[in-house]
Amino acid sequence: MNTLIRNGTVVTARDTGKADVLIEGERIKEVRAGIPQQSAEKVIDASGMYVMPGGIDCHTHLDMPFGGTTSSDDFETGTRAAAFGGTTSLVDFAIQGRGTRMRTALDTWWKKAEGKAVIDYGLHMIVTDLAGAGLEDMDDMVREGVASFKLFMAYPNVLMVDDATIFRALSQTAKNGALICMHAENGSVIDIIVQRALAEGKTAPVYHALTRPPRAEAEAVHRAIAMAEIAGAPVYIVHLSSEDALNEVREARYRGVPAFAETCPQYLLLSIEELERPGFEGAKYVFTPPLRPKQHLPKLWDGLKDDNLQVVSTDHCPFCFEDQKVLGKDDFTKIPNGGPGIENRLQLIYHHGVNQGKISINRFVELVSTTPARIFGMYPKKGEIAPGSDADLVIWDPAASHTISAKTHHMRVDYSLFEGFEVKGNARTVISRGEVIVDRGQFLGKLGRGQYLRRAARGGAWK
Ligand SMILES: [Zn+2]
Repeated sequence: MNTLIRNGTVVTARDTGKADVLIEGERIKEVRAGIPQQSAEKVIDASGMYVMPGGIDCHTHLDMPFGGTTSSDDFETGTRAAAFGGTTSLVDFAIQGRGTRMRTALDTWWKKAEGKAVIDYGLHMIVTDLAGAGLEDMDDMVREGVASFKLFMAYPNVLMVDDATIFRALSQTAKNGALICMHAENGSVIDIIVQRALAEGKTAPVYHALTRPPRAEAEAVHRAIAMAEIAGAPVYIVHLSSEDALNEVREARYRGVPAFAETCPQYLLLSIEELERPGFEGAKYVFTPPLRPKQHLPKLWDGLKDDNLQVVSTDHCPFCFEDQKVLGKDDFTKIPNGGPGIENRLQLIYHHGVNQGKISINRFVELVSTTPARIFGMYPKKGEIAPGSDADLVIWDPAASHTISAKTHHMRVDYSLFEGFEVKGNARTVISRGEVIVDRGQFLGKLGRGQYLRRAARGGAWK
């Protein structure tokens, strides 16, 4: 079927202009002003609307085991919530179990998504063990379209790997063209600070943030980038949260090093005070890295402006307050780490970025869609409005006002990090591979329609 989107303003990472978009089947066929109506069976009027590439969230954790529980959104509820917010692709994380093959983890995560996902999804592989066939497994994963690997410099005895493992992984990607994503915090140092805090009876949620200082993040970012330079590979820092860490990325980029970093709405809009909420409510804001003192926030916005931060993702990893966060009632180290956000990313960054004059609308598209597509090997299939690209589109109503609340959101979690936030600008119609999956607050997509994204190595992080 052909669909014509008429009278809208098409916005890409490059430019903004009045144009119609003709969709043939799952792809975009033509983009220009004045495409005749009779060329399509279905016409969507986009007067007064922006037509943008669908959002790409390259950092989510759906149906993920953590700390004796599992993140509360699975591939059905999580991708559906993403669609409501204008996100049409995501990249989630499969986790290699220690002493097991990566193939096993990939199969497990394919099964989690199969029959459930309503938008397209790719997978990164979390590497926990490179003994045995680890390096061969990395090449095997690249052949399966897993073009990126995440390693942890934090969480000793759980996910943390040593520098030798990180360096071997980086060196392998220098050959196979995949990209290493780094959770950069000095886990060994943090672990000692945490043990001291507990010994002093400091068990409240706020100690989660106070035991993970910004310097522990900056040190790890510095070390990650240095190891990547030595290995001759690019590196991507996930969920960068502090000015200290950003300075390390900036310094490297200034020297021409291919270092990339993302941040998330929570680090741009919330600060450490949230963890000091009365009772146990601060636990809602326990995720890693933690929220930082207020002075870090404008620095991160500056990073988005001057391209020292290239991507905004969510690190969506929801745990319900009532029956999951409560596991850490008497000990902040037992609070499941993570927060929800997959649905609100575009709303928040559009409102606080574009409406408030911090970034242009083109930069917005670049941060939430085009650059993630490039860096993670999905471009120009995703993240672009051009003939041949997938027809993943958001018809965005810049005048729509919306109050974010757990009462109305579609994520399967009993609270919102942004409860009561008022935003202007929201997705009206969301199209995934030519199919309208959300229209004016109605979900129209079919369960399991989302496809696995085989991503290419040597994406936009490589010269
Ligand atoms: Zn994460």
